[in-house]
Amino acid sequence: AKETGKNRYQFFNSTIGEEISRKADIEINLRHAVELGEFELHYQPQHSLKDDAITGFEALLRWENAQLGRVSPLEFIKVAEETGQIIEIGRWVFEEALEKVKQMCNSSSECKKIGINISATELEEESFVDNIKAKIAKYGVDFSKNIEIEITENVLMKDFERNSKILSELSTMGFKIALDDFGTGYSSFSYLQSLPVDTLKIDKAFIDNINVSEKGTSIVEGIIRLAHSMKMNVIAEGVEDKDKLEFLKRAGCDIVQGYYYSKPMKEDELESYIEMNN
Ligand code: C2E
Ligand code: CA
Ligand code: CA
Ligand code: CA
Repeated sequence: AKETGKNRYQFFNSTIGEEISRKADIEINLRHAVELGEFELHYQPQHSLKDDAITGFEALLRWENAQLGRVSPLEFIKVAEETGQIIEIGRWVFEEALEKVKQMCNSSSECKKIGINISATELEEESFVDNIKAKIAKYGVDFSKNIEIEITENVLMKDFERNSKILSELSTMGFKIALDDFGTGYSSFSYLQSLPVDTLKIDKAFIDNINVSEKGTSIVEGIIRLAHSMKMNVIAEGVEDKDKLEFLKRAGCDIVQGYYYSKPMKEDELESYIEMNN
């Protein structure tokens, strides 16, 4: 019994140790990731259910590091939020996406929307709005209406009064605002009335339940009706098959994003995707 105890202790010890050193590895390697050019934005298309046309793309961050290889954003963004490194990374993301919008709007008639994910740490940073204003000013032309800022409801609830003021400011500047992962957080419906939200994004967890359970199916129908009654658009996320697509079409969902259409693409694949889907 004594031996088992000792082994268990060692096992326990080493997993926690491994976790800590993995985090440290990520933190250390994130320090120079921006300057080394290790980040890339990938873009996942969003299609209108009315006519199949592309309405925009969500920008999704990718990181490939010499020592760690490819690390999932689910893993490194959590670390970057804890260390504050997300501020610098988020600025890079915003700049990169803005450049992409500018390029799309200038080069062709294909001026699509780009969705950018913003985390709590970024929104909480004091100069967040000023920084964005400076960037928009730098570009001369105002592309704010082509940018949809995606935030989760949990981010908002951290300091509702302040954060809803920031959203209003962004909305006044012309940005579109999307509530990401809608329904997975811990908020009540009442806050929706007082926010300048243009779009609700239904999380994949709900989409997965379509046609699986009756309740799961009604929840999705309910979210779509709720959104429309508040004059919001609905984007369904994580749509992988035709059955779900057809259901969402019947339920009146506006826009769909998911592997059914495409996985997130590298920047240089965008143009031909747009051409192909014209
Ligand atoms: P999210 O905002 O909910 O993004 C959607 C995630 O679902 C993406 O994962 C996307 O690749 C994945 N996805 C889309 N369609 C499908 C599908 O049909 N099937 C499946 N299985 N997955 C699908 P990804 O790219 O790994 O990103 C994970 C999360 O990391 C994002 O979740 C977002 O919270 C965060 N993230 C990504 N890029 C950024 C960024 O630039 N800034 C910040 N702050 N967070 C980011
Ligand atoms: Ca680029
Ligand atoms: Ca998102
Ligand atoms: Ca999601």
